[in-house]
Formats: sequence, structure tokens, C-alpha cells
Amino acid sequence: MHYVIIGGGIAGTTAAEELRRLDPSSEITIISEEQHPIYSRVLLPHYIKGKIPRERVFLKKENWYSEQNIDWMAGVLAVHLDTKNKFVTLSNGREIEYDKLLIATGGEPRTLFENSHNVSYLRSLGDADNFLELLNSRDNNCNGEIFGSGFIACEYLNLFAHFNIPTRVSFRGEHFWSRILDREPSEFVNQHLEKSGITLRKNVLFSDSFVEEELKYKSSIFGIGIGIETDFSWLKESGIEIKSGIRANEFLETNIPDVYTAGDVAEFFDVIVNRHLKMGNWMSAMAQGRVVAQNMFGNKTVFELVSSYATNILGLEVIFIGDVSKEVSDEVRLFGSIKEGGITQLVGRKGQLVGAILLNRNTDRARITEEICNKSGLSVDIFAKI
Ligand SMILES: Cc1cc2nc3c(=O)[nH]c(=O)nc-3n(C[C@H](O)[C@H](O)[C@H](O)COP(=O)(O)OP(=O)(O)OC[C@H]3O[C@@H](n4cnc5c(N)ncnc54)[C@H](O)[C@@H]3O)c2cc1C
Repeated sequence: MHYVIIGGGIAGTTAAEELRRLDPSSEITIISEEQHPIYSRVLLPHYIKGKIPRERVFLKKENWYSEQNIDWMAGVLAVHLDTKNKFVTLSNGREIEYDKLLIATGGEPRTLFENSHNVSYLRSLGDADNFLELLNSRDNNCNGEIFGSGFIACEYLNLFAHFNIPTRVSFRGEHFWSRILDREPSEFVNQHLEKSGITLRKNVLFSDSFVEEELKYKSSIFGIGIGIETDFSWLKESGIEIKSGIRANEFLETNIPDVYTAGDVAEFFDVIVNRHLKMGNWMSAMAQGRVVAQNMFGNKTVFELVSSYATNILGLEVIFIGDVSKEVSDEVRLFGSIKEGGITQLVGRKGQLVGAILLNRNTDRARITEEICNKSGLSVDIFAKI
């Protein structure tokens, strides 16, 4: 049996590790665009701040792959997939046949200002090194300019603050998180940012003329946090169903036999909230790596997890649990208030509690996770219990 895994991030590497455990005599190949052994993206901000040395971001050493008898092809891209004849073509021209294939290719930052040297993206270790170089070569009147309000924008807020760099953040709506938060919680976030000394530039459209104008500010470092996207062009002829991600059922199987997906790239059927979801967090990517390996091996296993993502923006503790999409929800309930210094936003669909966003209300986390897992209704009783 030859298992081929495209993408050596946490989803792909966890799957490889689990497959080796389940199937000791199998052939396992990881095709990885990046040169490095698996590392933690979560630790990159800590490395930039100097809190941990560079070598501490790595989760495995190079010799781990050979010790596990995993053929680790680093620095090569999968450029074409033939699902009829079951082989992958690589950027170096090689063709790799598979019996079972996992696509765990994550995502790439959406870009702006492609040709400017003082622009930073934050996805890879190389990006972190580049950001450190920008920091080290900055002049005294350097400003931090953040574009967007995704998770990475939050990382930039913390990073610029850590280095005492005056910061402005530009985003599309009236509020930093108006797309996911109701009015009062989003006002809470805006107020928190302003109190922390951040300048907010609202209702910004990132047009070409805007970009051109901005580039004149040579002493600024631009941190781009407008979300991630994925290149699916190499899958065009594969017949794999793709929407906002690679579509999969609850077993992380795509519509093509023997082809599976996991991690940030997967748009999987979530049996708890009863719809297809893309997750984009470490916990989910790792758990999917484990479950997909079971399924590739032949142990049918449903992926079932209420995942969460905790972050801290300049002292404001934020936790996202489950399916927080406001667009596909039909009910939002709030607990707490700006005055109380903490707000929990519960998200419901068709009467079911499907997700929550907690601002300075960490104590609600375990309880809400349990209620989402139990598919509880968005009833008055539940709110009373929280
Ligand atoms: C700075 C930062 C901080 C974060 N902090 C948190 C946090 O605090 N908590 C949290 O839950 N999540 C956090 N995340 C998100 C989390 O890191 C991701 O959800 C997780 O890493 C996704 O793992 P993955 O394996 O699905 O994808 P990835 O880690 O993106 O791995 C995919 C790999 O596939 C490679 N690849 C892509 N296309 C090809 C191809 N065609 N051929 C070969 N290889 C290919 C890519 O280069 C990449 O190495 C953070 C992310 C970043 C960038």
C-alpha cells in the first residue's frame, strides 16, 4: 500500500505519523513545498518576539522522517493530479503513483502590494524571518500599517505593540470584526483597540489606487492580514469537487475514490452543525490528520469535533468555538456587555447552538463547547445555565 500525502503541515504530518502506526509495512510519501521539517505556525509570533529561539518552532527533526520510514520529498510541489491513473506529477517532473492520496495543502495569504520590499505576510517560517529583517532594518520613525482584520491582523497588532511601533489598522467595515460580531461586541473590540493606542481606519477599499498611494510611505512596515486562499489550478482536471475548499464528507473523503483531504484546505461535512465547513485552526487540522489516517487505512471514522481557537489581542482574550459564521446563522444572542468588560456572542442556526465568540469571558468556554457538542437548542434554559 502506498499512501501519498501532499502538504507537510500539521494535518499532513499527523496523518503520516498515524498511518505509520496503523500500517507499519506500508509505503508513505510526503510531498512538501516547504524545505523545513514540520514546524508550528502558532509559535512563529513567539519566535519573532524573541521569546523562543528559531529551532524551537520545529516539531520534528529532519531525521524523524527516515526513522519513521517516511519518504519526505521537501522543496517540491505537486503540479498535476491524474485521478484515473492514480498518480501525481511533481514540479521536478517526477510522477508518483498512489493507492491512497491525501491533499492537505493548507492555504496561502491573500496578497496586496506584491512588489514592495516593506510588506510582510505571516504564514511561513520564511515570512517570519522576513518580518524580523524588516524590523531590524527599520528607521526611528517607522509605523506599523496593518491591512485587514483576519487572525493574522491580530498577530500584527501584538507584534507591532511588542516592538513599540505606532500602529494603524485599516479594514473594510465600520468595525474591526463587523463581519462576525454583532454591534455591541464589535464596538467593544473597536474601543479596546483605540484604548490600546491603535489608530483605526474604517471602511477602506483595498483598490489599486489606494495601494499606489500607500506605497509612498516608505518608512512603514505593512502587515497584511486579509485572509488565506488556495491555489486549486493543479487540480483542474482531477474531477475533485471544490467550492471554497476541497469538498469532503464526514469521513474526509472527497468525491473521488481513494482521495482524501484534511486541514485548512478541507471543506468537510461537520456532523455536529450539519453543514460543510472550513475551519482554519491548529486543533482541527491536527485532529483531522488523525481521523483521515484511520479512514485511509480502512477504519471508517467520522470526524466529529467542536474545535476552538484562542487568541489575545493586546490584552483582550478572544475565543472562537465551533461554527461562528454570522452569514449562515439565523440567530445571535449576547451575554455580558461593554460595561461588564466581557461579552459572549452565541450563534444559532435553525434553533441549534452552533458556535460562539467569547470576548474576555474564557470561563464560558468548556460549558459552551459541551452544549454545541450535545447539539443543544438555543433555548432560554441554556442561556440561564451559562
Ligand atoms: C502566524 C500564525 C499563527 C497562528 N496561530 C494559531 C493559533 O494560535 N491557534 C490556532 O488554532 N491556529 C493558529 N494558526 C492557524 C494554524 O497554524 C493552521 O490552521 C494550521 O497550521 C493548518 O495546518 P494545515 O496542515 O492544514 O496547513 P499548512 O500548515 O498550511 O500546511 C500545508 C503545507 O502544504 C504545502 N503545499 C501547498 N500546496 C502544495 C503543493 N501543491 N505541493 C506540495 N506542498 C504544498 C504548503 O507549503 C504547506 O507547507 C496560526 C497560523 C499562523 C500562520
